Amino acid sequence: MTRSMRAWRVRTPGPIRERPLELVEVPVPEPAPGEVLVRVLTCGVCRTDLHVAEGDLPVRRPHVTPGHEIVGEVVARGADLPGAVPRFAIGDRVGIAWLRSTCGTCRHCRAGAENLCVASQYTGWDADGGYAEYAVVREAYAYRIPDGFDATAGAPLLCAGIIGYRALRRAQVPPGGRLGLYGFGGSAHLTAQLALAQGVEVHVLTRGEAARALALRLGAASAGDARELPPVALDSAILFAPAGDIVPYALAALAPGGTLAVAGIHLSDIPALNYQQHLFHERTVTSVESNTRRDGEEFLTLAARLGIRAHTTEYAFTDAPQALEYLAAGDVEGAGVLRIG
Ligand SMILES: [Zn+2]
Ligand SMILES: [Zn+2]
Repeated sequence: MTRSMRAWRVRTPGPIRERPLELVEVPVPEPAPGEVLVRVLTCGVCRTDLHVAEGDLPVRRPHVTPGHEIVGEVVARGADLPGAVPRFAIGDRVGIAWLRSTCGTCRHCRAGAENLCVASQYTGWDADGGYAEYAVVREAYAYRIPDGFDATAGAPLLCAGIIGYRALRRAQVPPGGRLGLYGFGGSAHLTAQLALAQGVEVHVLTRGEAARALALRLGAASAGDARELPPVALDSAILFAPAGDIVPYALAALAPGGTLAVAGIHLSDIPALNYQQHLFHERTVTSVESNTRRDGEEFLTLAARLGIRAHTTEYAFTDAPQALEYLAAGDVEGAGVLRIG
C-alpha cells in the first residue's frame, strides 16, 4: 500500500513573488537500506531554500522539495546495511541537515574535510527535503536533537546554527577578540550567541531596526549600518548577507591580520578591491562551504551546553511561499520555521 503526503516542490525556479513553489500530493518516500523515514514535525526556512526556488543555484533535481532544517520522528527503518549498527530507533527525534551524503573516498573526505567532498549531495537540492510531511535520510548523516530543544527551537540549529559555527571558526576570531557580523538573520543571531558565550565582543552591521534591536538585546556591543565603519577595528568578520558589495566595507573594517569569512553559498558580485585599503596588512578573505558532520555534532553539543536559543517566527505548512517572501524582503526576526507535523 502506498500512502501519499503533501509536499511543496519547485515548479520552475523564478522570482519568489511569482510563486515558483507548488503544493502537490506525492507518495511517501520509502527508506532505502541505511536510511530512516522521518515524519516531519518542523522545517526551518533558510536563505538557501530561496536560492533553490529562485534559481540562483542551478537545478540539480527537477521539481525538488526544498528544506534542510528538518526536525522529525523516525517512523520506519530501511534494511540494515551489512555490518552497520543502527543509530536510531522508531520514535527517536532526529534532525536532517544540508549535508546529505559524501563519497568517503576522495582526498577531501579522507583528510577530514568532507564539506569539500567532490561528490557531496545536499538535502533540498539533490534530494527532496523537509517542506513535506515525510522525508528520508541516511541515518549516518542524521543528528540526534539534544533534549531541551523542542521541534521549533531545534530546526534553525541544523543549518543556520551549524553553518554559523563553521563560519565562526573560519573567521579565526581570537579569544576575547572583536567580531563583526554583517547581516543579522537566522544564522547570525545564533552565531552571535555562541561568540558572546565564548567572551567575544560582537558588533552587528545590518539594515533593519528590528534586527539591530535584537542584536543589542542579545548583548552585541554595537549595531549599525553595514556601509559604515563599526566603532572599533575588527579582528574578524562574517558576511551573512548575500551582498558582495559589502565585502570591501567589511575588509576596510578589519584590523591588521584580520579575517573576513563569507558564509553564504551564493553571493552577488564583489566590486573591485583596492589592495591598500582592503587587503594589505595581511588581511584574509575566505568562504565557508557547508560543514562536516563533526561540525554539526560539536555545534549541537555546544548549543545545548551554552543555552543557545533561536528566535523563531512560525508559519503554517501551507504558508511556505509567504515565509520565503518575508525572508527575501529581510522581514523575519530571527529564523522562520514551518510547522508541519
Ligand atoms: Zn568525498
Ligand atoms: Zn541552510
